Amino acid sequence: MNIMPIMWDKMKRKVRINKVAIFTLITIILVLIVGCTLALNYFGKESVRLKMKGYSSKVIDKIIKDEEITKYALNNKKDNLLIELINVDEFKFSNLDKYKSYKKDNKDVTSKDLVYLVNNDYTEYDYSPNLIEFINSKYYLKTRLDRYLAYQEDHQDLEVKEIIKRVNSNIDYDFYTNVEKTDTSYGYQMICNKHYNIGTYVPSNIVSVASTYLKPGYGGYLDKEVYAAYIEMYNAAKKENLNILVQSPYRSYNTQSSIYNNYVKKDGKEKADTYSARAGYSEHQTALAIDFATKTTTGLSNSDFGQTKEFKWLQDNAYKYGFILRYPKGEEYITGYMYESWHYRYIGKEAAKIVHDENITYEEYFTYYVLKK
Ligand SMILES: [Zn+2]
Repeated sequence: MNIMPIMWDKMKRKVRINKVAIFTLITIILVLIVGCTLALNYFGKESVRLKMKGYSSKVIDKIIKDEEITKYALNNKKDNLLIELINVDEFKFSNLDKYKSYKKDNKDVTSKDLVYLVNNDYTEYDYSPNLIEFINSKYYLKTRLDRYLAYQEDHQDLEVKEIIKRVNSNIDYDFYTNVEKTDTSYGYQMICNKHYNIGTYVPSNIVSVASTYLKPGYGGYLDKEVYAAYIEMYNAAKKENLNILVQSPYRSYNTQSSIYNNYVKKDGKEKADTYSARAGYSEHQTALAIDFATKTTTGLSNSDFGQTKEFKWLQDNAYKYGFILRYPKGEEYITGYMYESWHYRYIGKEAAKIVHDENITYEEYFTYYVLKK
């Protein structure tokens, strides 16, 4: 009997079995590789790792938008302040430590206020609704915050709005104290009052007022542009049969000096200060201010000019020509002068419209819109 065919047959079968085993093994290995890769991928995913740290999907969406925040969140335990602040639009990750330290000292601060205060360098101020009220008020200037707060200390009955108004008008300083030099480079927007001294300034571009426009017996000079604006206004009023005449325009330092000194002789310094400017402090020295009169008014007084149709017209229309009533009724404590229905100041049409529309004094306008500090 030939043994060969039987052995051949056995070998063939063995090979077949091995082939099956190898195939099975390879399949298992492949499945394991794919499985592990998928698992690694899944658990390696940042969002999954953040979820495992306890962050909500909503917060995770925000975190993974920023590489640095993601890195921070992954390498630290769940950060509750981060969760709170990441929803605030102005949140800055680079300020996180500052937010934390401010929050530690000011537990009541809201997320929005916290972000705002830190981002805008208010960390030296304790949080309070009062502080936020100042910051959110119109005409608020950060550079004056210390002065607002100091003034508030002594005037606790006043509203924040009123404190801002006063400090912006330098009313926390007595008149003729803390005096600064008028910056004449502001041109039509320059200020001259009891806190701004114009010195012996002489305007360069002045023209003589023609007799048509003058109250008989008076005369003088005005800045050229102011004069043109006044004539435009005069003509508009004339169409309604009104005569807005010039009684007192530009006054030099020396003229003002003798006027003031005469008043002091007559009424004493204290009283004179309420209606007349000391030399170097009069707006008339800018050549941008005019005292108006009509044909019939006899002097500068509210019971006279203040009762005229011309005055009424000016109240509604002066701003359209760039003029404002400079010393309004009720604002004596801000302007430092009694109500003067006849004294107007040229500041340009754009500025005059703001002063008119917002019903503010020039003191407030100047600090907020011109000086901006
Ligand atoms: Zn005047």
